[in-house]
Amino acid sequence: MSDDCLFCRIVGGTIPATFVARNEHGVAVRDLNPQAPSHLLVIPRRHVASLADASDGAELGALLLLAAEVARAEGLAETGYRVVANTGTDGGQTVPHLHLHVLGGRMMQWPPG
Ligand code: 5GP
Ligand code: ZN
Repeated sequence: MSDDCLFCRIVGGTIPATFVARNEHGVAVRDLNPQAPSHLLVIPRRHVASLADASDGAELGALLLLAAEVARAEGLAETGYRVVANTGTDGGQTVPHLHLHVLGGRMMQWPPG
């Protein structure tokens, strides 16, 4: 937990967010600036800077399962959705605390921008 980290503060409750689900390893909140009709962020409780720094398979597995759970709860399971972990500068990561984007409710494009 770092006071300087936006997502640590969201997890800790000192910055408000709309929580939609949680499990032992992570929480899911609505993205402040949604890029699709449904745009959730799945954030580990523990501070991990990015996927490049992740090493705990149980934690990563729990985050992926939470992503699937919130997608189901959003009604996206039938039509489909996208899970993205922007990683590092070229990956377009802007918040240096690992998170999964869950995007759905519209057709996604490929290749991504
Ligand atoms: P990244 O660019 O690191 O992959 O994703 C960061 C995401 O965090 C962006 O989609 C951005 O809209 C979202 N975001 C930034 N600040 C906040 C905030 O204070 N609250 C919430 N809920 N989302 C945020
Ligand atoms: Zn953090």
